[in-house]
Amino acid sequence: MPDVAKTEKAQLHVPDLEELRAVLQTGLADNFAEVNVSVVECPDLTKRPFSFPVKGLCGSPRVTDVGGVPYLVPVVQKNKEYDMNAISKELELPGAFILGAGAVASRIVGINAELIPLVLTEADGRPAVNSSYFSSINPVDGQCLQEKYSDKFSDCNFGLLGNLYACEGKPGKVIEVRAKRRTGEHSIVTALRKTLEVQYPDKSLALGGTFIIQKGKAKIHIMPREFSVCPLTSDEEVNGWLKHFEVNAPLICQSVLVSKDPGLDLRVEHTHCFSDHREGGHFYIDTTPDSVEYLGYFVPAEFMYRIDRPKETHAVGRD
Ligand code: ZN
Repeated sequence: MPDVAKTEKAQLHVPDLEELRAVLQTGLADNFAEVNVSVVECPDLTKRPFSFPVKGLCGSPRVTDVGGVPYLVPVVQKNKEYDMNAISKELELPGAFILGAGAVASRIVGINAELIPLVLTEADGRPAVNSSYFSSINPVDGQCLQEKYSDKFSDCNFGLLGNLYACEGKPGKVIEVRAKRRTGEHSIVTALRKTLEVQYPDKSLALGGTFIIQKGKAKIHIMPREFSVCPLTSDEEVNGWLKHFEVNAPLICQSVLVSKDPGLDLRVEHTHCFSDHREGGHFYIDTTPDSVEYLGYFVPAEFMYRIDRPKETHAVGRD
């Protein structure tokens, strides 16, 4: 990765899983009518609806914030491109399983699009397995077009930005979150993040994992196929450029959240989703609070790596 800023690393606070379970159980009850948080063995994620290339979310859990929105707006920097295999080495975990939220490498895909990364990176004697999806605006009807990345491309590259969770992909203990009927204003991701922020005000914690929206609908966005010709200088201008959709459950979401930025200019939460019915993209919140149901699996990360942090930064477009 030429012309890339030096990677910064921060240790994160990792509470005992039982302590974390109790904290999340109490905190999420402010935002959902029914909450049940428990410590369980990670289900086999190679099974549907996940169909991940690894069984679990455990083993050397870590998160990374790669690049950033400043490489997308006000004007795109198309040279910002990364390789998941190189990222796994930068995370000191070659061969890692990586999930999260990012953008495609427009040089390779030929358009701009949302990336839903699910990659088992290459290791000695084993090629990478790229189970990612990408989601773009269908030029025919202007609707959402979700495709399997490996159906069209053979690399593990992405562009501009990525908020990623990496681990060894092993089975093990995880936090299971079941929540029904949203009574608060926060998305499930924001509710998890705010709970940690309130409980541990002086510490930085991060969670990575996956959750299913089992019932209901959700608000998502997809970036247009073309980058904006006009500089985008405010949240309003960015939102005017993005295409927003309401999509249907079941949706499988990949999420990274950080309770408190330890001074690394982070995007503190980022979630992308895919589905079996070809709807996917950047998740904001459910639009059906009275009927929504969530089932998720999360692991607290031990380290945060800030890769290629933009030198010139701003707070626009981080929702
Ligand atoms: Zn996104």
